[in-house]
Parts: sequence; C-alpha cells; structure tokens
Amino acid sequence: MFFSICGNGITDRYADMSHQAVKSSVFPVSVGLRSQALKLKFASAAYDGHYLKPAFPLKQVMEIFRNRLSMEVSPPIFHQDYINETLSLIYSPFYRDDKIYDAVLNRPLMQDNPEGFDLSPISEESPDWKIDFLPTLCPHCGCDMEGDKDSIALSCKNCNSVWKPGKNGFTKIDFATIPMTGDDIVHLPFWRIKAKLSGVKLDSYADLVKAANLPKVVQKGWDEMDFRFWVMGFKVRPQKFLSIATGMTLAQPREKMVSELPAGSLFPITFPLKEAIKTLKLCLGGFIRPRRPFFSMIGDVSVTPVSYRLVYVPFREKQHEFINSAYCLAMIKNHLSMARNL
Ligand SMILES: [Zn+2]
Repeated sequence: MFFSICGNGITDRYADMSHQAVKSSVFPVSVGLRSQALKLKFASAAYDGHYLKPAFPLKQVMEIFRNRLSMEVSPPIFHQDYINETLSLIYSPFYRDDKIYDAVLNRPLMQDNPEGFDLSPISEESPDWKIDFLPTLCPHCGCDMEGDKDSIALSCKNCNSVWKPGKNGFTKIDFATIPMTGDDIVHLPFWRIKAKLSGVKLDSYADLVKAANLPKVVQKGWDEMDFRFWVMGFKVRPQKFLSIATGMTLAQPREKMVSELPAGSLFPITFPLKEAIKTLKLCLGGFIRPRRPFFSMIGDVSVTPVSYRLVYVPFREKQHEFINSAYCLAMIKNHLSMARNL
C-alpha cells in the first residue's frame, strides 16, 4: 500500500511493481504482469542456468516506484509511506541461441542480436538458500499452536499465549481480550500502541477531543486517560485502512480486558506490529482537524512508539459484515477476505 498526504488530502494506492535488478538495456525493465499472472516457484540451485546477480540498488528502485506513484497525486506532497511492502527477488528466464529469447514466450527479445552483447561483466550467483521449518509447538507448554496459513502469529489455547516466529524461534506477544460471548461473536486483533509524540499534543483523551475537534465537551478526568493508537492486526484494503484505524483510535476502547484468548472465533493476525507503527503518522493525518494546517507541519511531527499490546476486540458477525456498534464500526467480510491476498 502506498499512502500520500498531499494537496488533495490523503490518497491511497495498492501497487505491485517490478524493476530489473541488473543493469542491462537488453532485458525488459520489468516483468510486467507476470509476477501476478504466472505461478512462481522457489528459486533453487537444482534448476539449470545462470542466475544473474542483482546489481541495481533496491533503494534506487524504491525511489523509481515512489516517483511513478507520485505522478498520480496533487502537489504539494507533505508525507508519503509504503505500508506492508513485500520484497521478492524474481528470476525471469531468457535464453541465448542465434538471438536472445524470452523463454516464457519463446520469442526473440529483438529482431537483431544486440551488438556486442556480453553477459560476462554481469556477476552471477547461485540460489543456494534453503527454507527452514519451525515446529508449531508452544515454547511455554509444548502444546500444538493454532493459526491460519497466512497468520503471522500463532496462539496456544492451553496456556493462553500468542507467539510470533523469528530468526531464533518464537517470541511472545503481549496480548489481552475484550471479552464478549455469543454465537455470533468474532474477535478481531488490533495493535494498541502508546507513542511519544513531538510537534503535536496528544497525551490524553482530553487532548484527542481537542485535536480531532470531536463534538464533545471535555469531562473531568479525561486529561488523565492515556491516549493510544489502535491499528488493525489484520490486512484491509488501502481504501478502508485509514477509516478503520481512525475510527478505532477515536473510539479509544476502555472496556475491561482479560489476559485470556477468546473462547469463540479468532480472526487471524496478518498485519505485523512493525507495519502498524509505520501508519501512525497517517492516522494522525486521518483525524486531526483542521487538516490543512496540520498537513503542512507534519514533517516536523515525530511519533516514537513506547509500548504495545495486541487486543482482541469483539465484533458481531452478520451475514455480510462484522459490526461493533459501540465504536460505530462495520467491516464488510468479503473485503477482509479479499484483503488477505494483498
Ligand atoms: Zn502453551
């Protein structure tokens, strides 16, 4: 997802782009739609051929993408960020006979053999990496953990714990549940994040009411209620992302929480904390009013996360939607299941 805070508000875009990773004018500059349309396999040294080593810096590639995506937004641009970007190195096949051929289409890249075409200045490498497997047993009690195939964390209902995989095995995630029971209740994961802000005063609920210009009169005690960001722990489409994160952050749920996993359905965690943190500035842009003066000073605002907790929040499952009327939030189930492929 690519977001811009710019002259015409906050724009969002879903992007799936590729760029040649070697520097050669012979090969196409990108793989076009192939990365989406063709089935990919893990690269392996077992496949024949020469693997050209990437030489074009990723940072430069990201700048090219940013410039291309920025052509669609109205200046001035105050803030931009990629959210939940995934990087893949894709080897695309070509072969050399009398000419250079595109091996997918079996067609020559150009009619004439490029003059002086020589692969030798381009380094090669061997794709000799391997996939490691991690047993999905709870590091605390040894029971089987649960999680969907796209989950980035697994839960153990035996000892009430949630774990995320890393290079050195699993690490524990601090979590809590807002309990609610009922046949139609589904708990969705949210990241509740406390952050230190500079350039904008947002320490308490009273500050939020003022900053977001909410139609409420600040009550006694609201200046002692900590402000926290609430960002989804699951993927949503870019068009809906800010409205849901903003809606939850403005709601500032304060129900009593328990440190137990919900008994009923759990929606899988598919959006990592690291990415949720990257959206905090965008969230501010989503609710601070008036917008324009805030946008023009957003470059001077800094947001430093201090602590977090994963919170399972109850929603009622209707035929087409998940609804939480206390926070005035409704999410279309179909949109959420499509977003899992993003
Ligand atoms: Zn356990």
